[in-house]
Amino acid sequence: MRPMKRISALFLLLALLPLAACSAAEKAPQPAEPKGMVYYTYFDTVSYVYDYTGDSAERFEDRSAEVSSILLKYHQLFDIYHEYSGIVNLCTLNKNAGGEPLEADPELIAFLLYAKEMYELTNGEMNVMLGAVLRLWHECREAAGEDPENASIPDESALREAARHTDIALLEIDEEKGTVRIADPDASIDVGALGKGYATERAAEYLESVGAEGYVLNIGGNIRCIGDRPDKSGWATAIRNPDQAAESYSCRIRIRDCSCVTSGVYERYFTVDGVRYHHIIDRDTLFPADYYLSLTVITRDSALADTLSTALFCMPWEEGASLVESLGGVEALWIFPDGSERSTPGFADLIEEEPES
Ligand code: ADP
Ligand code: MG
Repeated sequence: MRPMKRISALFLLLALLPLAACSAAEKAPQPAEPKGMVYYTYFDTVSYVYDYTGDSAERFEDRSAEVSSILLKYHQLFDIYHEYSGIVNLCTLNKNAGGEPLEADPELIAFLLYAKEMYELTNGEMNVMLGAVLRLWHECREAAGEDPENASIPDESALREAARHTDIALLEIDEEKGTVRIADPDASIDVGALGKGYATERAAEYLESVGAEGYVLNIGGNIRCIGDRPDKSGWATAIRNPDQAAESYSCRIRIRDCSCVTSGVYERYFTVDGVRYHHIIDRDTLFPADYYLSLTVITRDSALADTLSTALFCMPWEEGASLVESLGGVEALWIFPDGSERSTPGFADLIEEEPES
């Protein structure tokens, strides 16, 4: 295993910037810092748009405003806790579970069709209809946050009962009529596994359509690079060491024109009797998946990267590695509970060696 390196908390927040600033590419004529940077708060997390090309202030403002409006639209469509006037969102669909089909925004329908496709692709490991089970874990996590002393995990029989309402076929989509219905009143949608990545990709699509290059989106940790840095050196980013306090990393990599998404046990969790329970649930055990500490996926499409980061997390390595190989254009890093790592051959090529300090 590689030795763990120390980094600052700020670095973790702005994963791309300081590494870029101290990289070997410093010698190149391009400035290391982005010329434009703006942040927004969507999906309960902070999102950044960086421009490394030095677009005029006006153009950066226009482009980032459009990125913001795309993110806002999906933030509202994907919200399972709040409704917004004039739109049918996931909260509306969940409330209406068992009722009549509802007319929904074509963009929400396109997303739900994609989510079904991803269910097939991942052999059901990533299932947006797992809402009933995820809700039980979510409630315990929230309660633990308020009162850690009395934290508890969901009752196993309640989990098993909830699991009876998670069939992907319960999500009924009528493309022609433009309607969606959840066919069971006890079933619900949860798109935590891929919603952010999907929205990120739509924003990236927009930037590409207007010819933007040298932009980076960091949407709550989902990184999407649009093109390359102007000096063609790629962007440096780090993969956090999942086993340590927040200030160290496992390796750093250089990426361009792609997404980098990590799912990890350290992201959202609560503790009961000294045992940590994180937020990625294995549909077989109905408990947090315990194959890995973290899983990183690099591929162009951010929605696929997000989907796979969650799905591979729930698969034994052999199965995950063969899925990744069959897809092509996907690199991954698996970090196991004992700290050991495996990666695709192409992932190893992205790793940047650091001079010993
Ligand atoms: P994050 O945005 O926190 O990095 P991930 O991409 O790792 O999230 O996905 C975790 C989220 O996905 C959970 O918080 C939950 O909402 C949802 N989820 C957990 N397990 C599954 C699963 N097996 N299938 C589909 N969604 C899941
Ligand atoms: Mg994910």
